[in-house]
Amino acid sequence: MNAPVKPADPGAAYRAHQAEIDAAVARVLASGWYILGAEGKAFEAAFAAFLGTGHAIGCANGTDALVLALRGLGIGPGMTVATVSHTAVATVAAIEMVGATPLLLDIEPGLYTLDPGELASVLAAPPAGLPPIRAVVAVHLYGQAADLDAILPLCRAHSVALIEDCAQAHGATLHGRMLGGIGDVASFSFYPTKNLGALGDGGAVATSDAALATRIAALRQYGWHTHYISDEAGMNSRLDEIQAAILGVRLRHLAADTARRQAIASRYDAALRDLGRIAPVQRRDGAAHVFHQYVIEVAEREAVRAAMKESGVGTLIHYPMAVHQQPAYRDRVALGPRGCKVSEQAAARVLSLPIHPELTDAEVERVEKALARL
Ligand SMILES: *Cc1c(COP(=O)(O)O)cnc(C)c1O
Repeated sequence: MNAPVKPADPGAAYRAHQAEIDAAVARVLASGWYILGAEGKAFEAAFAAFLGTGHAIGCANGTDALVLALRGLGIGPGMTVATVSHTAVATVAAIEMVGATPLLLDIEPGLYTLDPGELASVLAAPPAGLPPIRAVVAVHLYGQAADLDAILPLCRAHSVALIEDCAQAHGATLHGRMLGGIGDVASFSFYPTKNLGALGDGGAVATSDAALATRIAALRQYGWHTHYISDEAGMNSRLDEIQAAILGVRLRHLAADTARRQAIASRYDAALRDLGRIAPVQRRDGAAHVFHQYVIEVAEREAVRAAMKESGVGTLIHYPMAVHQQPAYRDRVALGPRGCKVSEQAAARVLSLPIHPELTDAEVERVEKALARL
């Protein structure tokens, strides 16, 4: 009996480029410089060039990247930040970490990203009792663009900053433009299982605004512009040299990894079309999906998971509860006027199939066969 197909496999991602990664790590160890040095600068330059943003600032993780983006924009207490409830809890945690008030809005069914109609309604008629809305965090969930064609003009019309949460969308585009370069500032996570993953924690903030980049670079290290002199109160959120060197290697393979994810997605699309009862992943017009996750919706989720497991295929749930349903947030976090019904339904039905680029063709075939047996 074959080992089950894993829904995520960071060890396989390491082994796929082991010699290059080992050499990069050995280089850093021998250099005697471990924090904010040449490796970090080289990775920041390469990542900014990849995104076309002009600036990328490494930091400790994707949550901190959002915190730094918000703080860089001056978002804090007495301000509301609108985002979605169907996201990694980190999106909402970061908003509260800067002292701002999250306002959670519903998503577009089947696309899982911020519903621009919901955003338009709260910008036109801000909910009573909340501080003014000063920023929007659009999450490009699962690797596909939120509807920035509608969201960006709304933000501009209401003088509200737009932050792109790109933690799941490295290399994804909308009308050929790289996500992370469309709003005012973007956050990335390099958690090991993300499309661009470190072998530990890591994150980055990207922006085309030079002054904002300078401020964020200072905020990540105690507010220093000059060593040991804090011009404003900052934090410690640095990307270490070992992770930066590893990310430099993995960035060179990102285009190939993305193509592999997209090829696997096409095969699942075909398998689901043959099956007929479960819809393949919905694509947004003009968007190139990078398939951080391949997410199907099923009413009898536990039965489907068990059947997939029986066929030797592991699955995951992203996420089993919307943020406003989780114990830490329920009954206290603000929702849009119509609530988050679509998000609640998604949380009850979503199921993620294995899609990491290191899956072998034989493993992809096993997933296809498992789907055919459903
Ligand atoms: C992973 C993730 C984050 C947080 O990144 P960490 O590196 O785990 O802090 C934020 N937002 C989204 C959408 C994510 O998927």
